[in-house]
Amino acid sequence: MADGTFPSVFVSHGAPTIAAGDAPVTAFLKGLGESLGRPSAALCVSAHWETDAPSVLGAARPETIHDFYGFPEPLYRLRYPAPGAPDLARRVVTLLADRDMPCAVSAGRGLDHGAWIPLMLMYPKADVPVTQLSIQPDAGPAAHLALGRALTPLRREGVVVLASGGAVHNLSYFRPGSPAVPDWARRFDDWLADAVAAGDREALVHYRTRHADGAMAHPRDEHYLPLLVALGAGGEGTKGRTLHRGFMDGGLSMAAFAFE
Ligand code: ZN
Repeated sequence: MADGTFPSVFVSHGAPTIAAGDAPVTAFLKGLGESLGRPSAALCVSAHWETDAPSVLGAARPETIHDFYGFPEPLYRLRYPAPGAPDLARRVVTLLADRDMPCAVSAGRGLDHGAWIPLMLMYPKADVPVTQLSIQPDAGPAAHLALGRALTPLRREGVVVLASGGAVHNLSYFRPGSPAVPDWARRFDDWLADAVAAGDREALVHYRTRHADGAMAHPRDEHYLPLLVALGAGGEGTKGRTLHRGFMDGGLSMAAFAFE
């Protein structure tokens, strides 16, 4: 961004196989890094780091965590050697403390695949310092909207808030390579995109009761919660902009949105 302000972004990371190959989402993520430009640092909020209370990664050289099972062996050899962002981690602690949200600093953890796979495609030179903030599935959607809201100032500080989850994520319907998309998945995905475009926080927070397919689309909240963080980080009254739509592997939505 020319003026140093970045949108907050939600991406669906699908399966680890997007790291290689020619899926539309792979091309999208490669282009996303170019279109956003290079931030001073990235704060990733991935569905794959769950804690009871907010925790931010303080590592100076975060390890690449291969937290997936049963995928092709070359994926386990990929490394994403981006530097950590301890200064940004401290800034996150301060921003959350200002809103009475205590946040711990975790020194030992690395980057999970929800973080490093999109980042590897967006910033392949691994030259953008990165840290991660955890999600708290027991706290629910409204708490993650508030968590994101606390992060809004970062967008004007040259930081990209990258929330990484899944717009529709029910692994009972994970069919590697299948182009067949269940009807309920399409219905929920369309509804979600409309609610994001309208900036309808009430509907997005209460998605399980507001849409008949909400619980089917997300048996648990964990891949949905990063979307609320991105929405919150966009700022008060922000509406979302669709960056990418599509499905992979059966019922996995690859939708991505920007909030600014
Ligand atoms: Zn995931």
